[in-house]
Amino acid sequence: MPEGHTLHRLARLHQRRFAGAPVAVSSPQGRFADSATTVDGRVLRRTSVWGKHLFHHYQGGGIVHVHLGLYGTFTEWERPAADRLPEPVGQVRMRMVGAEYGTDLRGPTVCEVIDESQVADVVARLGPDPLRPDADPSWAWARIMKSRRPIGALLMDQTVMAGVGNVFRSELLFRHRIDPYRTGQQITEAEFDAAWTDLVALMKVGLLRGKIIAVRAEHDHGAPSYRPGRPRTYVYRRAGDPCRLCGTTVLTAELEGRNVFWCPVCQR
Ligand SMILES: [Zn+2]
Repeated sequence: MPEGHTLHRLARLHQRRFAGAPVAVSSPQGRFADSATTVDGRVLRRTSVWGKHLFHHYQGGGIVHVHLGLYGTFTEWERPAADRLPEPVGQVRMRMVGAEYGTDLRGPTVCEVIDESQVADVVARLGPDPLRPDADPSWAWARIMKSRRPIGALLMDQTVMAGVGNVFRSELLFRHRIDPYRTGQQITEAEFDAAWTDLVALMKVGLLRGKIIAVRAEHDHGAPSYRPGRPRTYVYRRAGDPCRLCGTTVLTAELEGRNVFWCPVCQR
């Protein structure tokens, strides 16, 4: 599942490519056809993101709300010079076409047209998004400090913090030597503050570079599990491999539906 930085990258790209001009919006697959007509041909004013929710704000008030879920993807394309649009491939829920670019959305969990008050309802259910300038970490801390749930679960709970997925969860906890099964109540405020600051920095790297780079340069020895093009991680998807710091076998277990990865020696 894409993590928050991916949505912020998409929002920036769509802003650059489509905002300020009319956009043809359609649903080649048909499932979004009725809603698409309500924004089709309107000017895209701006894009925004909160956590894993992407919003396209159109003139006239309609807002396309997209959540990619596990399988959703946007395929970006340039308009061919001959002005013949590419044939939609597969189940394209939403197609956006501007003057020079297009994009095809397939397989989202949510693709709907809503209004400002409904956007407010969506956002009201979400915790702070570390990549938003208005993010208030004290809101997340207030939830975590009182919770008996494992911190590994709290980090993934979008109502506590919005945008963190499985890679950032596992890597952040490793970088701060925190066992994913410690409860929220067992996290100190100093630990939370350090982890939040680090998370903002890690997600900004993800936003700028388009990939998650969690391994500090001093620990980057080209470990055996390194494969070009894969995220460089301490523990994520490294179950059974030696910890990059202490050599202990990295563990994995299911924690609230998703596999968490950790080093039982480095993380306490
Ligand atoms: Zn270790």
